[in-house]
Amino acid sequence: MKVLNFGSLNIDYVYRVDHILVRGETLLSDDRKVYAGGKGLNQSVALGRAGLDVWHAGNIGQEGKLLLDVLRDAHVHTEFVRIREDIPCGHTVIQNDKEGDNCILLFGGANQGVTEEQVNDVLGHFHAGDYLILQNEVNCLAVIMNKAHERGMKIVLNPSPINEQISTLPLNFVDYFFVNEIEAGLLTGIKSRAAGELVPAVRRRFPETKVILTLGAEGSFYIEGETVLHQDIFRVETVDTTAAGDTFSGYFMAGILRGKNPAEALRLASKAAALAVSRRGAAPSIPTMGEVLDFPA
Ligand code: ADP
Repeated sequence: MKVLNFGSLNIDYVYRVDHILVRGETLLSDDRKVYAGGKGLNQSVALGRAGLDVWHAGNIGQEGKLLLDVLRDAHVHTEFVRIREDIPCGHTVIQNDKEGDNCILLFGGANQGVTEEQVNDVLGHFHAGDYLILQNEVNCLAVIMNKAHERGMKIVLNPSPINEQISTLPLNFVDYFFVNEIEAGLLTGIKSRAAGELVPAVRRRFPETKVILTLGAEGSFYIEGETVLHQDIFRVETVDTTAAGDTFSGYFMAGILRGKNPAEALRLASKAAALAVSRRGAAPSIPTMGEVLDFPA
């Protein structure tokens, strides 16, 4: 069984600010860091650092070659990452305030240049029973999902950041579906952010799917038919919540694919995400399996 992550690769420009900018404001930042990021890259790094053999597919611009080094350092295979000469690399401009909250401007760039020919080429190397991991930062998602389903691959989707593309997707092909409270609310039409209302709504809307619902500091749920499991967060000092969700989903899938049951996978993922929020940056904040297993809990 092989694991393919077809997803975004971004350069994150992270600015420290006193507060998140408001409309019309000019604000001085006294610190900028440049990190590897993108929900796709983050999840590949999480899977790689968790000890899984994972292939990443996607596009970078010429200035994004540092992203390949980050993937390789996490033992992720990079032969399906294309370097596009004609499109700028995907990147973000992130503001981090004193409370550890952030706000993100995302420029898709090369991530939005996925072609059908590229999808066919990459998926041709994978087979029935292999896993495909997806987020919502590349174009052509419906093509990728349809083709992967035809080939008998298992599909894992995190529809973040949620937008109109989601309504074009064959969501019934998804085996593992990772949603936060905003995505769950939009997909079920429920206005409340309370677990007591979201959990039954998710069960009704996706009766055949294994859904993992993450509620930030309120922890996470695993929902499969009549089964509902809850996991509290592990309390840490919050420094930067970037990549918490990606670390969580990467480690949850790594747990499942390494034979853990869903309750154990939730616990593993929650520890990994807690470590990620206690550190700065996206990819650099993602722990290794050794660090997660040493986490006192
Ligand atoms: P997303 O970024 O996708 O909205 P969440 O904010 O729901 O993801 O976070 C995913 C998981 O990360 C949570 O279910 C929790 O386990 C962990 N997590 C998030 N915020 C914190 C925090 N402040 N302290 C500890 N763990 C956290």
